[in-house]
Amino acid sequence: MSHAIAIVGSGPSAFYALDGLARAVPDAAIDLFDRLPTPYGLVRSGVAPDHQGTKAVARQFERLAQKPNVRFLGNVEIGRDVSLAELRDIYDAVIIATGAAADRKLGIAGEDLPGVYRSWPVVGWYNGHPDFAELDFKLRGPAVAVIGNGNVAIDLVRVLAKTAEEMKASDLCDHAARVIHAAPLTDIYMIGRRGPVEASFTSAELAELGHLARVRPVVEGAEIPPASGIADAGAAKIKDKNLEILRSFATLSAHDKPITLHLLFNATPMAFEGKVQLEGLVLRDSLGQRQWTLPVQTAITAIGYRSLPLAGAAFDQPGGRFVNDGGEIERGLYVVGWARRGPSGVIATNRADSLAVAEKVAAFVRTQPEKGGAQQRIDALLTAAGVSRTDFAAWLRLNQSEVAAGASVGRPRIKLAAWSELRRFC
Ligand code: NAP
Repeated sequence: MSHAIAIVGSGPSAFYALDGLARAVPDAAIDLFDRLPTPYGLVRSGVAPDHQGTKAVARQFERLAQKPNVRFLGNVEIGRDVSLAELRDIYDAVIIATGAAADRKLGIAGEDLPGVYRSWPVVGWYNGHPDFAELDFKLRGPAVAVIGNGNVAIDLVRVLAKTAEEMKASDLCDHAARVIHAAPLTDIYMIGRRGPVEASFTSAELAELGHLARVRPVVEGAEIPPASGIADAGAAKIKDKNLEILRSFATLSAHDKPITLHLLFNATPMAFEGKVQLEGLVLRDSLGQRQWTLPVQTAITAIGYRSLPLAGAAFDQPGGRFVNDGGEIERGLYVVGWARRGPSGVIATNRADSLAVAEKVAAFVRTQPEKGGAQQRIDALLTAAGVSRTDFAAWLRLNQSEVAAGASVGRPRIKLAAWSELRRFC
């Protein structure tokens, strides 16, 4: 007999929590639930397909998932197939690691016009998330607006702008490659409502925009100051690097490139316009002195995410995340990652966060008598509910098949995206 702990979600924050638990309570039985048959959350369906180095963290997660006291239960949605209350009754502790799976809304007129998309479905579509494999994403040109000045906006710009040749070592889904590489784009606008110093993108990601085969980046709507003027030396260093890169764009001799990337600062979206589909984006400058309409045929908002609530766990609706005190929602119920602190930081940011919460979970279960029989009880409950759950062995078979298909054409993998295709394996 040993304690049993459930982790809801199997993205990076879940795996780092698993890592922490494996050290702090090595004899605990840990069940990792995911509503998808595939593990790794944003590593599979969020990280850009041309950032394969970032995705390599999955190898570390794979080793953790194969520990004898760990199980992966895919195709199980907590809140639909099993309630959180049932899970808490069965396990000695439960950790919510469900990320932030809903886009924030701009809340302006025309947001539901055809041609206006949100980043979560589009990123999921090109990355093989089964919920979005059938998304009818029409990349109408010649002008596209990507709204937001974070790294998700940069990912979108880069994936839409790169050529097929530039994406050949990526795992961009074939259905997305067909649409993206046929689109007649001449102008991409990346729109920030504030200035270059306030932009939240990071330097490495920004610098990539200066090295794209068919893109000429130009800065508009702002002077680039010589220095950020931020008091904190660490933060100033990062911002100053961004400013240096933005200045360097002016020196690029790239006038023959077919796509102009307008890095447009100090422009607040006011409305999307169009009779039957998107025709223009109304913008206002930061001083409120000028309003104008940018003719764009496709727009994607990339303005941050919110977590989805789960019945039985306190949720901060305005903040879009679970109410918690250092990761504890209440005794026996914990939260990690974006679901805990909001959608910020890179994958590795979750490590320290999840390890600290895992320590708390371990300290809690050590004081509790073991409930016992958790795995038999959850298995019986899922069987009775008619849930056909999948396991890690099924994922490994799918993974092997995707990698083999990719190897035959010199790519890291060819993803299976549609639910019907995934079900053949899982
Ligand atoms: P983010 O960094 O918070 O950026 C959101 C952007 O949306 C900001 O520029 C924000 O501007 C803007 N915004 C918010 N509300 C808006 C509104 N109403 N109108 C206009 N603009 C608005 O979020 P993200 O890009 O979704 O990224 C989430 C996290 O994932 C970040 O920590 C990011 O670094 C990380 N990530 C990392 C990578 C990578 O490492 N390569 C790739 C993708 C994502 P304000 O600043 O003015 O609010």
